Order: sequence, then C-alpha cells, then structure tokens
Amino acid sequence: MPVTPVLTRRWTAPESWTLATYERLDGYQGLRRALAQSPDDLIKLVKDSGLRGRGGAGFPTGMKWGFIPQGDGKPHYLVINADEGEPGTCKDAPLMKADPHSLIEGIVIAAYAVRANRAFIYLRGELIHAGRRLRAAVAEAYRAGYLGRDILGSGFDLDLVVHSGAGAYICGEETALLDSLEGRRGQPRLRPPFPATHGLYASPTVVNNVETIATVPFIVNYGVDWFRSMGRERAPGPKIYSLSGHVTHPGQYEAPMGTTLRELLDMAGGVLGGRKLKAWTPGGSSTPLLTADHLDVPLDFEGVQEAGSLLGTAALMIMDDSVDMLKIVRRLTQFYAHESCGKCTPCREGTTWMVQILSRMERGQGDPDDVDTLVDACDNIFGRAFCALADGATSPIVSGIKFFRNEFLPITPVGPSGSTTSVAGSAN
Ligand code: NAD
Repeated sequence: MPVTPVLTRRWTAPESWTLATYERLDGYQGLRRALAQSPDDLIKLVKDSGLRGRGGAGFPTGMKWGFIPQGDGKPHYLVINADEGEPGTCKDAPLMKADPHSLIEGIVIAAYAVRANRAFIYLRGELIHAGRRLRAAVAEAYRAGYLGRDILGSGFDLDLVVHSGAGAYICGEETALLDSLEGRRGQPRLRPPFPATHGLYASPTVVNNVETIATVPFIVNYGVDWFRSMGRERAPGPKIYSLSGHVTHPGQYEAPMGTTLRELLDMAGGVLGGRKLKAWTPGGSSTPLLTADHLDVPLDFEGVQEAGSLLGTAALMIMDDSVDMLKIVRRLTQFYAHESCGKCTPCREGTTWMVQILSRMERGQGDPDDVDTLVDACDNIFGRAFCALADGATSPIVSGIKFFRNEFLPITPVGPSGSTTSVAGSAN
C-alpha cells in the first residue's frame, strides 16, 4: 500500500498519461472493485474515509454524494470542476497532464455511486495541453470499455464529455460553471438551492474538483483505514501542495494533510536565495496572508482557519522580504476587479473602487484615511456579494493591512537627508 506520494506517484513514469502505463501501475483496479459493490456502499465508503473536497472549501465528499436524491426519476449529472483559476493554484493542471486516467477512473466510480449516466469535465480554457491529454485519454477509455455502454459488463452506462471554458475566473464558481456549460454567460446563481438538487439542467448534480475525484480510486483500492492513516483525524489523506514565488524549487509537493509550511519549505529547498520569509498565502490569493510567525501551522482546513486564514486550494505563494506589500495587494485586487462578472454591486463596484484607492496609495497620493476606508469597504463587501469572488477579493487587503499596515500609509519626506517615514509612525 502506497503512502505519500499517492496522487503523484505515477507522474514520473514514462508516458504516464497513456492507458498502457496506467493499467501497468494498478490503473482501473479500483473501478473493478467499485462496480462489484452497490452505489450506496460506495457512498458510505467515501463518507467513512473522511475525504473532503480539494477545490478549496473542504466540504465532505461522501456527504455531497449522499445529497443526490434517489428514485426521483430525473437524470443525475457529475460535473468535474477543472476550471483551476485561483492565482497560485496549479495542481489540477499537472495532474490532468500527467495522470488523466486517474481522474477518468474516479469519474466512473463517482458517477456509478450517484447514479449519473452523464459526466462533464469543465476545463479551464487556457489549459490547451491538459485538454489534449484528457481527450486522448477519454478516447482510450472508451475503446477499452471503461466508458460508454455496459462498462466492464456491469450494465452501467456513462458518457463523458470534456468541455473547455473560455478563460473566465468566475466560471470556476460552481453555479457560474453550470450556466456556462448550459451555453449561457457564466454568472453565479443564488444558492440555495445547491447543485445537489438543482444543478445542471435543473437536475441533481454533483460538482467535484479534479484532485478530489482522482483520490477516489485509491480509497476504493486500499480502504478507509489506509486513507485515514495519513493526515489528520478531521481531514485525512494525502494532499498536493503547490509552492510558487520566492522558493528555491517551486512545484507540486504531495504530503499528508496537516503538513506545515516549514516542512514543505524543507522539501522545496527553502526560501529563494536564503532570504527571509515575509508573507505567504496558504491557499491562493483568496485566502488571507500569513507571515513567518505561521510556519508551524498544520495545513489542513481547521488548522489554517484557527490561524486566521483558509486552506483553500493549498496554493502556497511564498513572498520574501524584498516584496512591496502594497504593490502585491494592488495587483491581486486588480485581478478580482478584472474577473468580477458584474452581476452584483458590492463586487462590481467595490473591487474597482478598491483598486483606485490602492493605485493612488502606490503613486504616493494616498490619504491618511485611506487605510480605514479600505478596511470599511472590505467589511461592507464581505458576505454581501452573490458568490465567494468578492469575499476572496477582500482577503489580501484585510490581511495585508493587518500584518503590514505601515506599508499602506502615506509616506512624507522628513529630515534634511530626505529620508522618509510614514505619517502615522509605527502601526505594526
Ligand atoms: P461552499 O462552502 O459554499 O460550497 C462547497 C461545496 O459544498 C459546493 O459544492 C456546494 O454546492 C456544497 N454545499 C455547501 N453547502 C451545501 C448544502 N447545504 N447542501 C448541498 N451542498 C452544499 O464553497 P464555494 O463557494 O462553492 O467555493 C469557495 C471555495 O472555492 C473557496 O474555499 C476557494 O478557496 C475556492 N476557490 C477555488 C478556486 C480554484 O481554482 N480551485 C478558485 C476560486 C476559489
């Protein structure tokens, strides 16, 4: 039984993306086991495993599958959210490129469990190469009888479609994704109702992240105790952590849930050039920044929450002490303003307004009240928008000001040498 690496263990095999390699390395064994069980037993297995969604929110996967009403006479759908777009997040793309069959195998198992005969992979438009690999792997799986009619003689039918989006961050929000898949402009729907009851074409739909579903075949193959032997009681299993920015060896590092940044930096050769760590995101730009004081925070959902942030997608963007925090925060806020779909006012107007304030601060034209105005704007945006995009937009601002307030204050020249100081002195 493998311990970590689990999800990434095939990535370095020659032609890892082909069916031949996948089958040689135990591929589709989980599916054979799954089809020999009842769908309800599979849902129970995934519930018992404690697997939690790897797309950012950490919702219990088995519970989500269990929400799908049974015997309702409606078609059920499985939709894979492969619209990986969170700045810093880069785990699903390499997974789909290196090991597309692990996702496909997970899809067939999950679809069988929730009694869906149609599944879709909604792929981020920019992921051209991953799309080619996925489509080739889907064709191989059809030819081998892992997709299509009467899969492996089980009587279960599944069709799988790979659909590429057009590069809008908002289409990673699950209801905007469903609108886009239905052919409409991708904008979030009001929840509830959740997709579990009113999803694609108003039918019961499971929306799961790529990494979540690629984990499922391992759970079916090796069991609940094996899965729970890794990670934390509250969040078991292996996890792909993405390290980027000022790190010696950026990339994907697979480790048990609850691994700390200190341990991950050891694996990745430390902060680039041996410089000091200034700040980092635990899970992409939508998760509040943490600092060098948080190196030993266990990186699981509750661990990071207790430290004042969110695990999100476990995308760790590392910033050394050369980083200008105001510039970083302005740039990230600009991303949210650009990607706001415009459906609701707090997000559309709020993000644009905050970029204006941050930009004038950066030009040295800030007002002493601007910091408080920004915090107040974030207070009025958080929890008041249609979806999580606007909440995410407040994260870099609020946490940046919390830890590095001085860097947001206006600078005025003082002293004969022309040295500078902030008007409000030390506020850190
Ligand atoms: P959420 O907590 O509202 O929902 C998580 C999942 O659980 C959804 O699938 C939702 O349908 C389901 N769910 C929640 N409550 C339910 C209920 N009562 N009944 C049925 N189903 C229920 O989170 P969200 O708004 O979907 O996503 C926010 C997360 O997305 C953030 O944590 C962020 O990190 C992440 N994110 C990821 C990316 C990426 O590129 N992977 C990009 C942006 C944001």
